[in-house]
Amino acid sequence: MKLSNLGEFGLIHAIQQLSSKRSPGTIIGIGDDAAVLKIGPSKLLLATTDMLIEDVHFDLSYTDFYSLGWKSASINLSDVAAMGGLPRFCLTSLALPVHIPVKAVMDFYRGFNALLRIHKTVLVGGDTCSSTSGLVISVTVLGEAKKRTVISRAGAKKGDRIFVTGTLGDSGAGMELLKAGIRENKRGTRDEGRGTKNRSRESGGRTKDDNSELRTPYSELIMRHLRPVPRVEWGRRIALSGCASSMIDVSDGLSSDLLHLCEESGTGALLHGDRIPFSPALLRSADQLRKPPLEYALSGGEDYELLFTVPSARMKTLEALRIPVTEIGTITTGKAMLQVSETGSKIPLRPTGYNHFKVKKD
Ligand code: ADP
Ligand code: MG
Repeated sequence: MKLSNLGEFGLIHAIQQLSSKRSPGTIIGIGDDAAVLKIGPSKLLLATTDMLIEDVHFDLSYTDFYSLGWKSASINLSDVAAMGGLPRFCLTSLALPVHIPVKAVMDFYRGFNALLRIHKTVLVGGDTCSSTSGLVISVTVLGEAKKRTVISRAGAKKGDRIFVTGTLGDSGAGMELLKAGIRENKRGTRDEGRGTKNRSRESGGRTKDDNSELRTPYSELIMRHLRPVPRVEWGRRIALSGCASSMIDVSDGLSSDLLHLCEESGTGALLHGDRIPFSPALLRSADQLRKPPLEYALSGGEDYELLFTVPSARMKTLEALRIPVTEIGTITTGKAMLQVSETGSKIPLRPTGYNHFKVKKD
């Protein structure tokens, strides 16, 4: 069988079946945002790892190294946030093509450490080697949580209300704008000054205040793609309050991530497409983008917002947190369905988010 037939998540499922089942210390193994391991009577260790591969996850023609470092840390911290945990330690491995300048690597770590500092997380090790193809980044984050408050993907029940923090779709739209800029530069019809592959490699590591190349009307969307903000604080407060029955971060796209949550919880869902929150920046840019905002939210991925469920009885607890959240659906016992508009019919929710072995149609 080909990987494209099995898909990324089918493959992970097959690996899960082949691997040893729970040891006494494993509270949650393969299948959630982070592994949950028992290290004390009520203390849990959270462990999560993610790889970023050049030309799969990022393109050096539109990503500077500071942002790449920031994002590499951010996507892992987001998985700890999705468990309601506190990130503590981090290990980073790099496979570097020899032509990458030392300054670019230093800039990567400036961005990386800037995000770690915000979340009081410390880099404690890693590995460095050469790569004969592209740049490969692997980051592992270790965090902590209490048994009483950790939130898995698996606890949603029929009738629970589905919420998402912040807004969705910005990152996918930002990536499209970046790609469009590159395409137009290549045709020579427009130069937004976002640089060429070689130039970006040399000039990586803009600081937060040095983003002149990104000051376009679309900079908000682009920044959400290049420097996502992990919702660590919100995840923690949601967990400590005890209001949520399940939680996941939106990394692949709302459709796929809600389906992951439903699969682990053994439930269905009704998702209201007309209630999904969009940023003013996305709505303002809608005319210039190829797809409607809903499609970026469902399929774009990399928003790193938190998607979680709350039983009706705990709504007051959620409201008291005063976190910017939007109710977008309900957990059901049937299939996962999408209702695009208030009066529209319901259609099955398809996993249109990112899947590494999916054959691309466009
Ligand atoms: P996320 O998007 O939250 O990072 P993934 O979709 O990458 O989650 O992974 C889902 C689950 O599968 C996680 O528990 C992860 O640790 C596990 N997983 C992914 N790939 C592998 C692998 N090659 N071997 C073992 N576990 C894996
Ligand atoms: Mg995740």
